[in-house]
Amino acid sequence: MDDRQFRTAMGKFATGVTVIATEQDGDVHGMTANAFMSVSLDPKLVVISIGEQAKLLQKIKDSRIFTVNILAEDQKELSMIFSGQIKEPRQVEFDRLDGKPVLEGAVVQVACEVSAEHVEGDHTLFIGKVTDIRLEDKEPLVFYSGKYRSLEENLSLV
Ligand code: FAD
Repeated sequence: MDDRQFRTAMGKFATGVTVIATEQDGDVHGMTANAFMSVSLDPKLVVISIGEQAKLLQKIKDSRIFTVNILAEDQKELSMIFSGQIKEPRQVEFDRLDGKPVLEGAVVQVACEVSAEHVEGDHTLFIGKVTDIRLEDKEPLVFYSGKYRSLEENLSLV
């Protein structure tokens, strides 16, 4: 099994798209990520997985806080900005939830404090204790097989 086959296979798991954000000394840094899931209800925990090359990694290690912003279907451009798919720097405004930087217009904003971290291969898993949550009634952006999708256009409900 080569790397490409592994990536192609894992890309067959349809996901939402999030922007993980953190803040250090007043500087907000965001990164597009789809490796996100809920872990526990009591206490309320989530997990994210950050590659060893990502600048975000050290920033979360230092700040010990992050937010998960589940993008809406009209926020594909934000995903492209925070994954470096759009190269030119853009000004992005951040709102606040529990004092942490969040993206306005996201379907869900989740504010977290790091409760544990585990290095696994070339990624670090951060377990986040959820300190606050905000929801909007919007449709999510979907990522499947390396492409952005919307629920309405590409998936029928079963
Ligand atoms: P950079 O590459 O420096 O930052 C990313 C971009 O965000 C840059 O263009 C930067 O200018 C911009 N940016 C950052 N902060 C701000 C700000 N405050 N205002 C305006 N612009 C800003 N990688 C993972 O490790 N885990 C995943 O789960 C994951 N999932 C992904 C899912 C998808 C759908 C995609 C497209 C990519 C995913 N990636 C994931 C890859 C990851 O998004 C990129 O490798 C990313 O470029 C790494 O970001 P970085 O922290 O190294 O910082």
